Amino acid sequence: MLRKNAGTIAFTATVMLAGLSLNPANTLRSQFKESPQSNPLVAQAATVKAGSGKPHGGMNPNEFVPMKVKAIDGYNYNTRVYHFELESPDATVDAPLTSYVLARYNDGEKDIVRPYTPIHTHEKGQLSLLVKSYPTGKMSKHFAELKPGDVLDIKGPCQKLKYEPNRNSDAVMICGGTGITPMLQLAEGILRNPEDKTKIKLIFANATQEDILLKPELDALAKTYPDRFQVVYSLDKPPAGWKGLSGYLNKDAIAQLLPKSKDTMVYVCGPPGMMNAISGPKGPNYTQGDVGGVLKDLGFDKDHVYKF
Ligand SMILES: Cc1cc2nc3c(=O)[nH]c(=O)nc-3n(C[C@H](O)[C@H](O)[C@H](O)COP(=O)(O)OP(=O)(O)OC[C@H]3O[C@@H](n4cnc5c(N)ncnc54)[C@H](O)[C@@H]3O)c2cc1C
Repeated sequence: MLRKNAGTIAFTATVMLAGLSLNPANTLRSQFKESPQSNPLVAQAATVKAGSGKPHGGMNPNEFVPMKVKAIDGYNYNTRVYHFELESPDATVDAPLTSYVLARYNDGEKDIVRPYTPIHTHEKGQLSLLVKSYPTGKMSKHFAELKPGDVLDIKGPCQKLKYEPNRNSDAVMICGGTGITPMLQLAEGILRNPEDKTKIKLIFANATQEDILLKPELDALAKTYPDRFQVVYSLDKPPAGWKGLSGYLNKDAIAQLLPKSKDTMVYVCGPPGMMNAISGPKGPNYTQGDVGGVLKDLGFDKDHVYKF
C-alpha cells in the first residue's frame, strides 16, 4: 500500500497561514457573501426539524439566536476563542459529531453569514468558537471587534459528517491552520465515548510554532488517552531544537506515520493547497470529490478518506 518515493507537497508557509481559505472556484466563503440561503450548509441547516433535537442550551439549528459573548481568550497574534453564553450554566451545546454553526451580522448593507466549528462541545454553559482573523475578512474582522457583553446571531449546531463509532479501527487526521477545529471536535467526541475503541493519530501542519492552535488541548488529550490519541506537529519554519516534523509535509512523512492497520479512515481539513496535495480537492457542490494527492498514491479510496 505504501510507496517509497515521496513527492514534495506544494503547500507553502503562505498557504498554511491561510487557514481554511478556500479557492475561488470552490469556496463556501464567497457563497455566503451575498446569498446565504443559496449555500448548501445553510440549506442543510434549514432542514433540521424544529423540536426534533435537544434544546442545545437555547441554540436553534433552524433559526438564528442572539448569543451574548461571555468571554474572549487570546490564542496568538491573529486568533481568539470566543465563548458565548448558553441559556443556563448547566446546558451544553450538545452538538452531534461533527457539527458547525452559522454566525451572522449585518454590515449595514447586507447580512454576512459564515460557518464555524464549535470546540469543547462538552463544556457547560458556553459555546466556544476559535476564530482566526483576517484584516479584510468581513466576519472574522467583526469577531475581532467583539467585546464581552456584545451579541452575535448564531444558528446551529448543524451536523456535517455523521460519525459512526468503531467503523474503523484507526483514524488519521491531517490538518493545517484552523482546519484543526473539526478535528478537535471529532477527536474529543471519539475519545470521550468509552464504547468507541478507535485509535487516533493527528498530524497538524503549520507555518511557525506560533501558528499552532489548540496545542494545550491536543497535548492534554495525548496525555489523558496515551493508548488512543497521538499528535504529531509539523512546521514549515521550525525553530532551533524543534522535535516535530520539519518542512513540507510529504508522502514519506505521511507514509511513516500511518498505522499498520489497513482499516484506517483519514480525515483531512486545511487550506486548498494542502487539500490538493494530501487528498485532492473537494468536488463541485460540496461533494467529496475523488481521492487524489498523497492519499491516492498511498492506496486510499473514497471509503477511507473524508474531506471536511
Ligand atoms: C464548515 C466550515 C467550518 C469553519 N470553521 C472555522 C473555524 O472554526 N474557525 C475559523 O476561523 N474559520 C472557520 N471557517 C472559515 C470561516 O467560515 C470564514 O471563511 C473565515 O472566518 C473568513 O471569513 P471572513 O468573512 O472573515 O472573510 P471574507 O470576507 O470571506 O474574506 C475577505 C478576505 O479575507 C481574507 N481571508 C478570508 N478568509 C481567509 C482564509 N481562510 N485564508 C486566507 N485569507 C482569508 C482574504 O484576503 C479575503 O479576500 C470554516 C469554514 C467552513 C466552510
